[in-house]
Amino acid sequence: MKFYSTKNRSNLVSLREAVLKGMPEDNGLFMPRSVPELPGGFFDNISSMGFQEISLQIADAFFGEDMPAADLEQIVTEAVNFDAPLVQVHDNIYSLELYHGPTLAFKDFGARFMARMTAHFVKNSARELNILVATSGDTGSAVASGFYDVPGINVIILYPSGKISEIQEKQIATLDKNITALEIDGVFDDCQKLVKQAFLDTELCSQIELSSANSINVARLIPQSFYYFYACAQLQADSQADMVISVPSGNFGNLTAGLIARRMGLPVEQYIASTNINDVVPEYLGSGLFNPRPSKQTISNAMDVGNPSNFDRILDLYDSDYDKILQDVSGSAYTDDQTRQMISRLEEETGYILDPHGAVGYMGLRHYLTELRDTANGIFIETAHPAKFIDVVGPLVKNAPQIPERLGRFLDREKRSVKLKNDYEEFKSFLLDEKK
Ligand SMILES: *Cc1c(COP(=O)(O)O)cnc(C)c1O
Repeated sequence: MKFYSTKNRSNLVSLREAVLKGMPEDNGLFMPRSVPELPGGFFDNISSMGFQEISLQIADAFFGEDMPAADLEQIVTEAVNFDAPLVQVHDNIYSLELYHGPTLAFKDFGARFMARMTAHFVKNSARELNILVATSGDTGSAVASGFYDVPGINVIILYPSGKISEIQEKQIATLDKNITALEIDGVFDDCQKLVKQAFLDTELCSQIELSSANSINVARLIPQSFYYFYACAQLQADSQADMVISVPSGNFGNLTAGLIARRMGLPVEQYIASTNINDVVPEYLGSGLFNPRPSKQTISNAMDVGNPSNFDRILDLYDSDYDKILQDVSGSAYTDDQTRQMISRLEEETGYILDPHGAVGYMGLRHYLTELRDTANGIFIETAHPAKFIDVVGPLVKNAPQIPERLGRFLDREKRSVKLKNDYEEFKSFLLDEKK
């Protein structure tokens, strides 16, 4: 499969280049040249296939011609090593729980897959690859966990000292082996600036191999389509009614992957783009006008995005045809008050505990089904474990969710970060000393 830039479709690159570069030089986004066809009979057999088996078939359709089958199988088996159960919440409403991975959020899928695919493409290089990531919290933990112990790759994570939660810091800064955490005396923007400056430093780049792990990498995007197929498989075992899927969204990578799955034949009648008050996409779906603006802070903070980076991919997939997009996607936006009320109310009615992001997805779904389509099967995506947001969720529910053991054990570990001043020369010497 070749990949083009959304800014220039005739500029094609190989999978290897798309994965290692992350982003085209023209600042567009990589897209697969075509949406591949699945083998005949795929959907007839889907309800008898397991998650890894489904994932491997999708991965093979995209990447099969670019790597040996055994390598791809290993990548999928190692990346997709936890379940994504479809849980009935009430009536015809189901939660697709994507939080059973190591950092309890759906970003684990993309991060684990990208890490292993990157390792595959640098396997025979003489020098190790150094991945620089600036984080304000969650991205760093998914990337650290995803790349942990992956051969040939060092990960250097910069985070603002004292500005991230204890559990986030423990997930980033207690790992050994190939993960290094740099605690920067500054704010998130300072961390990001240091990383950007390093990429622009030609002298540094001639001495060590640098790369980023940004969320728009195709090796993060494509694996996010696997679980849409798996949701369909689990639902079909239960019912043949039409499927409507609500995706709580920020940068819209998750929804884009769902739209790609639909293009591959997944029978989804409608997607719902559900957001918090950062509602540029629901607004676009209502008016046809895309008006990016600075983000506002909410309790579903992983969706606080004012200029969603994957929006151009959605436009590209639909040839910028607003009416065609509307046929497949509707939008809904919700305030923090509505989100809090919904978390309390659903627990009261059913015992099911939503996290703030999933609650936004649930509201978008419920609204759509009530207004338009009460006979369809509705799925909303639960993107994070409610215990990750215990400060918000705890006071709203009777039975507070427990932090699962696999996350809780990080709290007992010792922090081993390296403290650095907010100073580029100091950062650069660190990289040159440590990472040759
Ligand atoms: C990143 C994230 C989202 C938003 O996903 P996008 O692909 O950026 O739209 C939603 N929920 C949680 C918990 C996340 O971490």
